[in-house]
Amino acid sequence: MKLKGKYIISGKIYCKTGLHIGGTAEGFEIGGIDNPVIRDPLTDLPYIPGSSLKGKLRSLLEWKEGKFGKGRKSDGTPTFGPCNCGHCEVCVLFGTPPRHRVKKPEELEEKELKFLTADEEGYTISGPTRLTVRDAFPSEDTKKRWEQWLGEGIYTEIKMENAIDRVTSEANPRPMERVPAGSEFEFQMIVDIYHENDKKLLKSLFTAMALLEDSSLGGSGTRGHGRVEFRDIEVKFRPVEYYITGDGKKEKLVISVKIEGEKRLIVYHTSKGEKKEFLLKEGKRLTTTEGKKEERELIKHLLSEFSKIDWGLECRSTLST
Ligand SMILES: [Zn+2]
Repeated sequence: MKLKGKYIISGKIYCKTGLHIGGTAEGFEIGGIDNPVIRDPLTDLPYIPGSSLKGKLRSLLEWKEGKFGKGRKSDGTPTFGPCNCGHCEVCVLFGTPPRHRVKKPEELEEKELKFLTADEEGYTISGPTRLTVRDAFPSEDTKKRWEQWLGEGIYTEIKMENAIDRVTSEANPRPMERVPAGSEFEFQMIVDIYHENDKKLLKSLFTAMALLEDSSLGGSGTRGHGRVEFRDIEVKFRPVEYYITGDGKKEKLVISVKIEGEKRLIVYHTSKGEKKEFLLKEGKRLTTTEGKKEERELIKHLLSEFSKIDWGLECRSTLST
């Protein structure tokens, strides 16, 4: 098992509604809010912890694959924690303990073997967790906007939520701190490639991202918080030579979605050496809102297309096997 390269997936997480990812109320002064958002202790700025994003993507994929409740404790009893079978796509992509021994290869089906390797005693192991999700911090634009909207040094709004007493109909307001709608966070995810087959895991990741857009991130999702969209998505591939030689030319842009100027939307598809350009609306100057709408439709389309792309074939030429 040897590292062949890394896919770097980056872009922005745009909050369509207020976002609440809970921090700890500890250390807050008395009378402070009891539902604070998590903040970077150095800058005091709210952020999206990589662990929150990763955990949500994992659970969405587990539900999709019917893996929920399939986890097993060491004595074999079922748990309702994450799947820990050690050989499914979810486990390989999101992680199980690195030396997690599964079964002898002959006890598994062909399709279950594609991401695994055998250890010296013939048990299968999934190897290192393929996916790394970095913490997502607010973009420069968003920091400026917060200052305009909320005032200097204030990055969040307080939303009052009411629990209604069913007998007396008395309202019991509860303050909830959240990042305002319209905020953007810069995300980065990395998928390590050890096997040729690992590239297929990208499909699962894009499926999870598409599922998240119709689900929610953070707390109180069913009450309207945490609706997010992925924007300005870019996928790069860095073969292992990139890290050895430091040669930036080894890095390969696989795909990127961006608005250029006001009216042009461009999609690069350089894995085939070609560049595709999509003009938003020919000959017509678009307002930014219209542009954003078209961009959205394309990203939505691409997220579903990404999950259909045969990454194995597309990028074979970049791998040294
Ligand atoms: Zn599993």
